[in-house]
Amino acid sequence: RRLTVAIVGRPNVGKSTLFNRLVGKRLALVDDTPGVTRDWRAGEARLGGIELTVVDTAGLEEVFDDSLEARMRRQTERAIERADVALFLIDARAGVTPLDHHFAGWLRKGRTPVILVANKAEGAAGRPGLLEAFELGLGEPVPLSAEHGEGLADLVEALLPYE
Ligand code: GDP
Ligand code: MG
Repeated sequence: RRLTVAIVGRPNVGKSTLFNRLVGKRLALVDDTPGVTRDWRAGEARLGGIELTVVDTAGLEEVFDDSLEARMRRQTERAIERADVALFLIDARAGVTPLDHHFAGWLRKGRTPVILVANKAEGAAGRPGLLEAFELGLGEPVPLSAEHGEGLADLVEALLPYE
């Protein structure tokens, strides 16, 4: 079956880079009405034989007159509501941040399965962050480099049980 995956995580971890990597030119914008906040976009992708609908939660950086925490929650809720699996990205180079912990705690309470992805894991700079990621309590992190296209086979492995 076609899997709907939502890419979630704090700003700057590489969500949109992963979205573009997966969806490439087959990008289909959704909810793109001019003047309306485009708070998420979706596209179709095929990864290792798995048909995916990928949702990028792009709206975290949008301006709301609300707390960051509230924005994160609302954004994540919308995306996860529609998803079979959430890809929770952290930045392996930056390590695990308080915001990541906050997000992880919230995701652990939800019903949507979560795959923890340690992005920016190319080279040696991501190793400490990859180890730190275990403390989020979301299982083994999948090391990935969305920018360089490394680790996609591991991502397929992680997605297969949900297909
Ligand atoms: P988002 O805010 O989570 O959507 O993050 P973006 O996709 O906009 O990426 C934020 C920054 O991280 C950009 O400068 C990207 O080029 C960079 N980035 C994304 N993926 C990788 C990666 O795998 N490795 C490295 N080193 N940088 C990355
Ligand atoms: Mg983005």
